[in-house]
Amino acid sequence: MSEDENLSFSTRAIHSDDNNAKNVFSDISPPLHVSSTYKYPVSYNYDIGVRKGVFSDPDELRKHIIGLNINSEVDTADPHVYSRYSTDTRDRLETVLGSLEGGHATTYSSGLAAIAAAFAFYQPTRLILPHAGYFGTHGVASIFRRSRPHVQILVLEDFLETYTDFGAGDLVWLEMPQNPNGEIYDISAFRERCKNGAVLVVDATFSPPPLMYTLELGAHCVMHSSTKFLGGHSDLLGGVLAVKDLETAQKLRQDRSFLGSVMGNMEAWLLLRSLRSLEVRVTRQSESATTIAAWLASPPQTPEDVKPLSIVAKVYHATLQQPELLARLNSRGSGVLSVEFISTEHAFLVCNRLRLFQNATSLGGVESLIDWRRAFDDKVSGGVCRISIGLENVEDLKADLRRAFLEVKDALKSESEKKINVQSI
Ligand SMILES: *Cc1c(COP(=O)(O)O)cnc(C)c1O
Repeated sequence: MSEDENLSFSTRAIHSDDNNAKNVFSDISPPLHVSSTYKYPVSYNYDIGVRKGVFSDPDELRKHIIGLNINSEVDTADPHVYSRYSTDTRDRLETVLGSLEGGHATTYSSGLAAIAAAFAFYQPTRLILPHAGYFGTHGVASIFRRSRPHVQILVLEDFLETYTDFGAGDLVWLEMPQNPNGEIYDISAFRERCKNGAVLVVDATFSPPPLMYTLELGAHCVMHSSTKFLGGHSDLLGGVLAVKDLETAQKLRQDRSFLGSVMGNMEAWLLLRSLRSLEVRVTRQSESATTIAAWLASPPQTPEDVKPLSIVAKVYHATLQQPELLARLNSRGSGVLSVEFISTEHAFLVCNRLRLFQNATSLGGVESLIDWRRAFDDKVSGGVCRISIGLENVEDLKADLRRAFLEVKDALKSESEKKINVQSI
């Protein structure tokens, strides 16, 4: 779609499926289709009043069905047969997602289903995974290894200081920014180290385009949990793998036809709807997160910040820890930050004292969330809360944090005073 390349990101989010062969309806808002199966195409002979199958020849029908697995393109006029192979909404969705990533996208029923599909497709013999990072990725890796005991699972952090190259059979998995503390990596440098067919896959769930163009930076494959920022409304579960070349995307779609991990009709429709506002949402979310991270990390500027900020031990956001690398990656950061409090008790209590931040896991939605990460991952320090910034006004969010921090500080101070009083009696 050469015309499409001249359009900017926000326009493509709304118009890159305009010319999709399946977009044949006059609806302005994409329609929702729920059918799992489709009639074989027929032609109608008005002269004799007979419906006639287009595939009158059995070999022709057979060729068409087999062709579904060979030619898994999303932008063809080929009729649908069964929704595990293709659907209108999913085809349009993958056209838009591919355009936004600068490649070709394949969608899945969840982020973890996308990770499982990537492992199944690349068939690594050495999986290099971050020790930190999303705990679920390790879960998928251990299931992958269950039937392949020869597969080695190595720790990414061990390769950060030693500049050895990766080789045939290696799959290097980066998470950008990484759970829970938002570290970022030099993708291009890792790509250069991938020799002889070693593959670099990046989980960019925390920094979707246009915050970061992961394929452009050199990743062979970018993965997203579309449950998070891409979906953006906390109402769908989904995953994406995007690659530069159509041939690899077609192979991934062929695999998916048999893995069966397709995104449901309703979810594909919700996600297509959500992508239309992606740029405005994630740009605002990362700007607000940057503002809040800077405020929490800086020495208190005003007397009313002195007490509340004293319960914050450290703030994690790439704009604070790795601003130069962020600039080099042309990345605009992320709407997620982490805060380490001075104790587990402070962290845990803050989650329950906020009014605008809901205490719930997940991230990327229009509603701000706060989550005590130790509940999911015992490798994470007890003082750490992950905060996902939504679309509420940033000053309202700061005021809510300030009030809750102060309440927690006072509550725990009077607790410890009580203890001292009890001891002294
Ligand atoms: C949520 C998440 C996943 C898993 O995605 P699901 O859609 O929940 O299966 C993977 N990676 C990261 C970074 C995530 O935040």
